[in-house]
Amino acid sequence: MSHLQYLRNACCGLLAACFLALPATADAGRPRLIIIALDAVPYEVVAALKNGEQGEDGVLDELRGPAAVISTFPSTTTLAMSGILEPFGLEHSPGYEARFYDRGRNEVRGGGPISYHRIPFPWRDVWDWHKGGVIHKMIGGLRPVRTSIKAIDQALDAFMRSDEPVFMAYTDATDLIGHLRRPEDLEVVLRWLDDALEELHALHPDEPFYTVLFSDHGQHGGESLVNLRKPVRRALKQAGFRLRKHIKSPSDVVIVPFGLISSLPLHTDPQSAAAVAAAVGEVEGIDLCVAAGDDHWLIAGHGSRAEVRRRRGEGEDLWHYRPLAGDPLGFQPLLAQAGSGDDGWRTDRWWFEHTKDGNYPDALYRIARAFDLVKNPASVICSLDDRAMYGSLITAIGARMTVKGGNLRYTHGALSRGPSLGFLMSDLPGWEPPPIVRFDDAMKPFAAYARASREQRAAATTPE
Ligand SMILES: [Zn+2]
Repeated sequence: MSHLQYLRNACCGLLAACFLALPATADAGRPRLIIIALDAVPYEVVAALKNGEQGEDGVLDELRGPAAVISTFPSTTTLAMSGILEPFGLEHSPGYEARFYDRGRNEVRGGGPISYHRIPFPWRDVWDWHKGGVIHKMIGGLRPVRTSIKAIDQALDAFMRSDEPVFMAYTDATDLIGHLRRPEDLEVVLRWLDDALEELHALHPDEPFYTVLFSDHGQHGGESLVNLRKPVRRALKQAGFRLRKHIKSPSDVVIVPFGLISSLPLHTDPQSAAAVAAAVGEVEGIDLCVAAGDDHWLIAGHGSRAEVRRRRGEGEDLWHYRPLAGDPLGFQPLLAQAGSGDDGWRTDRWWFEHTKDGNYPDALYRIARAFDLVKNPASVICSLDDRAMYGSLITAIGARMTVKGGNLRYTHGALSRGPSLGFLMSDLPGWEPPPIVRFDDAMKPFAAYARASREQRAAATTPE
């Protein structure tokens, strides 16, 4: 008997009895909607399970898709959820991670067991069911597959007990499977979820519901990842900068290590951003760095530099990519193809269509939004290659204790394709999965359904 069969047989009877005993609470008429977010499940993993010639073994066959969702840059949870859930009216978070640099106070805040819950991060409060937090993640890391399966069962149980017309559930345990094992190990969890959803429909034929399933980003790696803490510190020092906790002079740089990820936000005096990007962009393992200006962004990495500009258009923005030395994003051939002699400005739609299948999907839009999706944006954000990570020593020690072989092999955060692609599936009538979609467009159809459902519920319960 497989691990999965064993777990399923052990829990199934109990679970079924539990669901059967529940009162029927759904609205007559409009089916409810459950939106399930599974952290860090890569698009490729879901696509391979769904599209593989597996006959009856296909996973999540009842749902359409997967659509590939191009995540934010950095491709990390806080930013990605803030962006993906924008159509639900979500406010932005104070920082890129739970621990962040506060510009106004000129200090580093958050990330502790108490402050994690005290400082509001709106994306964490949007869920009707969710388990998360620093301690939960540490414990979950010991048995990530089991923790993910338990989370799914608890989330579906809570959904059936609730009478919310729209129910949102989130687990971060799936993120740990990728980080601590490998993304392919998510198959067990996705099959479990598939079976559990099928079971719910079968047990409650008179309580129809639709499902939305998505992830916030993917993962990349495979080799033992090198932590760039020391080389980044060295490169900054050589260029005349110092790592500090506060910014008091143009030579001060603040980095807030949190987790072990393949992106690196740096905070500097505004006049130092370009020089810091150029210095860190030379470090081996750094793919490129982006410095934010007022209406433009500078990309630097290993001797190459380019400038990105945005012009606000009527209805649609225009973007300009100008290589200054080399071609850090490799977009020069695209521009050449489209014809020379023009002014180089292209529409937002043009850039999306021409870059969505490349190594830096939708990069210009994502680079700009990297600095406006948080309340305390960085001055520079670097993207690491798939052999490197940057992060906290505490997480590194924790990873050493839980990862086979002692070192992390997979992570996310970078601008490149692997960590940037999450997935989206649904059985909502009328939804046709696009092959690939921008993060803040992905949920629009479901947000519209959710809004209509909540309005209908409000109207039905308001006395005349
Ligand atoms: Zn995530």
